[in-house]
Amino acid sequence: MTKAKGLSTRLIHEAEGAVADASPLVTPIYETTTFLFSSAAEVQAYAEGRSSKFLYTRYENPTLTAVEAKLAAVEGAEAALVLSSGMAATATTLFALLEAGDEVVCSTAVYGGTLHLIQDVLRRFGVRARFVEPASLSDPAAAFTEQTRVLWFESPVNPTLRCVDIAACAKACRSRQVISIMDNTFATPINQQPIALGVDLVMHSGTKYLNGHSDVMAGAVMGPRVLIDRVARARRLFGSVLDPAAGDRLSRGLKTLPVRVARHNQSAQRVAEFLASDRRVMRAYYPGLPCDPDHAIANRQMCGFGGMVTFEVDDGLEGAARVFDRLRVFQRAASLGGVESLCSLPVLTSHFGYTDEQLVQAGVTKGMLRLSVGLEDVDDLIADVDEALG
Ligand SMILES: *Cc1c(COP(=O)(O)O)cnc(C)c1O
Repeated sequence: MTKAKGLSTRLIHEAEGAVADASPLVTPIYETTTFLFSSAAEVQAYAEGRSSKFLYTRYENPTLTAVEAKLAAVEGAEAALVLSSGMAATATTLFALLEAGDEVVCSTAVYGGTLHLIQDVLRRFGVRARFVEPASLSDPAAAFTEQTRVLWFESPVNPTLRCVDIAACAKACRSRQVISIMDNTFATPINQQPIALGVDLVMHSGTKYLNGHSDVMAGAVMGPRVLIDRVARARRLFGSVLDPAAGDRLSRGLKTLPVRVARHNQSAQRVAEFLASDRRVMRAYYPGLPCDPDHAIANRQMCGFGGMVTFEVDDGLEGAARVFDRLRVFQRAASLGGVESLCSLPVLTSHFGYTDEQLVQAGVTKGMLRLSVGLEDVDDLIADVDEALG
């Protein structure tokens, strides 16, 4: 600032902290890159880990610390970290925990970005990858070797919504000192609590249900302090921390998570039941349907079946595209977990470029449509799908 006559730099600096004693109901957005210390002794206490002060926003920031405490609470974890996206959470976690010579066992049915990170990127750093079918995951010990350090899996999986026995996977990992990591994005912590089922670390794309409004990219990882501390050190060095303004939006989204998820569950169940009973639909996929192959597992480990519903129509991609193009309430877009209902065609998005054989292995068909059932009036949603089916 250019100094006008009579302007005191010292007074300007003091004015900056003038409202420090206000007690806001909502944690403010600390849009500051750095934090003040009053003395060398205070800096030293921070450096030696003897203070709760903040130093630099890439390391930690009060807005983020507040949302992390909420995230740890919702997943029943000791600690949590927020990162700049779900993929940032995945990459930072895996790079923090693995080293050359280690092996990671990964479900074949995981988010595409996760698969490519493990298969293509980690491999270049000497981390071996072994991919296991979700059906064989309940006995992952069979796939473990002496070098296996991490198991990465999801449940329910995209887009078939098949479920994996989480407690069985976690138990197998415990017996072999393998760190189990589960992507809980689809289920949300409201419907499924992997840590209570024995999983070590839970990862989320906060971009989806946790924020819930399709307007922020974020990621999170939750678990025991000792593991989260290792991820926190990697986050400092990778710079994969979340921006505080995005952290605030994530925090706001979290406040309505239980009510949103209750509504997603209810509406998705209704949409799935409509699809399952309609002759124009070859098959409906939803763990909340009594006819679903994983209904029993889902019942055991979930307390709600989520907002994602998949269905299959006749005539392959052409048939699916006809239905897709006629939708008027469901909007044609990738992603999921927001207020607005969305529809995507797995063979053109998550499973684009798969060979016919790979599609069969993934249980994905060309006639599949995947719905992210939003918060609109459920009768409007059902009427939309009904009309689109023609
Ligand atoms: C979207 C998604 C991710 C990746 O999260 P981003 O926030 O897009 O980086 C990971 N896992 C699942 C299951 C997802 O749906």
